Amino acid sequence: MPQVVDLTVIGGGPVGLFGAFYAGLRGMSVRIIDSLPELGGQLTALYPEKYVYDMPGFPAVLAKNLAAEMAEQASRFGPHLCLGETATQLDRSGDHWVISTDSGLHLPTKTVLISAGAGAFSPTKIGVEREDEFQGRGVHYGVRSLETFRGARVLVVGGGDSAFDWAVALTEYAQQVRIVHRRDVFRAHEETIRQAQEKGVEFLLWKTVSVLHGDDRLTGVTLLDTQTKETEHHLADQLVVNIGFKSSLGPIKEWGLEIEKNQVKVDHLYRTSLPGVFAVGDVCTFEGKLKLIATGVGEAATAVCVAKTLIDPEAKLFPGHSSDMAL
Ligand code: NAP
Repeated sequence: MPQVVDLTVIGGGPVGLFGAFYAGLRGMSVRIIDSLPELGGQLTALYPEKYVYDMPGFPAVLAKNLAAEMAEQASRFGPHLCLGETATQLDRSGDHWVISTDSGLHLPTKTVLISAGAGAFSPTKIGVEREDEFQGRGVHYGVRSLETFRGARVLVVGGGDSAFDWAVALTEYAQQVRIVHRRDVFRAHEETIRQAQEKGVEFLLWKTVSVLHGDDRLTGVTLLDTQTKETEHHLADQLVVNIGFKSSLGPIKEWGLEIEKNQVKVDHLYRTSLPGVFAVGDVCTFEGKLKLIATGVGEAATAVCVAKTLIDPEAKLFPGHSSDMAL
């Protein structure tokens, strides 16, 4: 069983990252769980190239840069990261909570900060037979390790930035990289499209994947022409699907928390209906709630300080100003 931490942050977006930083500042041990493989939440997953104009001190900041700065700030006190893991269950065990994840981890914690935004992200699937059976055996949603693709014939599905970024990166490892896209217009940046062309990525346009072939792992696919409805067979060792994400509160709704309109109800100290479990940021609701990073980080600081006093009743609620601390 892993170590019991003082606080587990569920959701490594900007609000959760600030909560993790503030808990570190308060001398608490912290674990961050996120369903995505990288920190930053929606800032990195949904709008990395957009400017954010309402962050104090930044007249304009690119979302991906803001996420990177917040992740660096959160890393200051060395939180334990559990990325690519979806928190599925919350159970009481003696004097602490145990959070279970979709890969079978059981993570003990004294207190919980739910900062899950709109919920866990899960990749959109192509929706063909045997897709789940081949997952991890030739079918992937994004790329965890480029090494997996060394020498392979790879088909990348999608026409957005994720598909093109991975296609370009995979050319350094794979024997062949081809993009399968349902039309001939791409959402990806022009510069990435140019790089893909330069690196020899082939394009299979007006095509969708209709059948997956193979015995115990993928060996090929049937592609359906979206215009002519003709089909063609292609050999492929790996299929990388990048056709977007869906977010859903999912399992959190089953944890016995008071839920109102798909959000977790909290009081003025961001306490939920479960002891030691707090909710902050877009996932929570209370009278006067604003869904802003600027207010979410304040909610996180308050919740962390209340959690601190729960764990250590001698601790002060307000720790003083960081500018007076020897950091
Ligand atoms: P995306 O931009 O939504 O692109 C999804 C792609 O999948 C689209 O080309 C879409 O086709 C296709 N698609 C959707 N459903 C499909 C289906 N059922 N069958 C076949 N194709 C389907 O998703 P993303 O690439 O993951 O990017 C998400 C956001 O993050 C975007 O704002 C993107 O700019 C950003 N991002 C940026 C970077 C970067 O800046 N380097 C990297 C990654 C992501 P249609 O075009 O025909 O709809």
